[in-house]
Amino acid sequence: MNLSDGRVIREIMNVYGISAQKKYGQNFLIDDSVLDEIVECSTVTREDTVLEIGPGLGALTRRLSAAAGRVVAVEIDKELIPVLAETLKECENTDIINADILNCDIREIYEKYGNGTGLKVTANLPYYITTPIVLKLLEYSDIINTITVMVQKEVAVRMQAGPGSKDYGALSLAVQYYSEPTVVTSVSPDSFYPSPAVDSAVIRLDVRHDACVDVADPDYMFRIIRATFNMRRKTLPNALCSGIQGLTRERVGEALDVMGKQRTVRGETFTLGEFAELTTLLCDSADNKI
Ligand code: SAM
Repeated sequence: MNLSDGRVIREIMNVYGISAQKKYGQNFLIDDSVLDEIVECSTVTREDTVLEIGPGLGALTRRLSAAAGRVVAVEIDKELIPVLAETLKECENTDIINADILNCDIREIYEKYGNGTGLKVTANLPYYITTPIVLKLLEYSDIINTITVMVQKEVAVRMQAGPGSKDYGALSLAVQYYSEPTVVTSVSPDSFYPSPAVDSAVIRLDVRHDACVDVADPDYMFRIIRATFNMRRKTLPNALCSGIQGLTRERVGEALDVMGKQRTVRGETFTLGEFAELTTLLCDSADNKI
């Protein structure tokens, strides 16, 4: 059964009485070369346990099963579970969990299915929840080695963006703090059934196991980053005073003086290293951490 053939997909849907669910972001991959490229750039070997998010009808899952030691795939749509039982019946190293990935305890999955060397995550992600999924995965940087995912092209660009770019923001900084992102390839809407309205890209995040910047309190740094980009047109002291209760304009100004920055600077020009330095300076005054 060729799961990357649009006619086969339509036939499966007829037989099972299902259709592609927009609410679950179901755009199935029908391009063999893209499917092969995702598996290749995931660098999956027989030593690896792969976590796939959203197996859909199983086209990518079957390839991952052939390359990996073990695959565990989390699918929210219960209508697809009987389809996957059929399409993956020869994939003995593959387990399907019917759940919402955002409600899953990934550490529990790792303890049950992993082999002690960390997970590789691979997915053609549902675009409506790309950012929450990626941010959740990055919280598990101690047990995840790589995250190779198909995302909207504009999201891939935001993940890689640096200071000075309009695409630079809280997502760029979170991704770059926890990983090293590489865009692997661009993918056109024709590679999916049904076709999405946007261009796509495959991006690989090589998860860092050691921090790339020194910062006194990473959680506080991300509060500062979120407050900055929530009001990206304001000066940094104004944005932080509006966004973080208890932080004064004076205290932020003093920290900027130490850094040799103008008090009128906008946070959107700051590098990750500068956000880390600012955080550490603000942390010196414990009163400011509310
Ligand atoms: N992997 C398949 C492929 O490449 O053809 C399907 C990819 S499709 C873009 C996204 C898949 O994620 C769908 O199967 C959808 O049902 C599933 N999905 C959507 N939201 C999910 C969630 N919160 N948790 C787990 N799976 C989800």
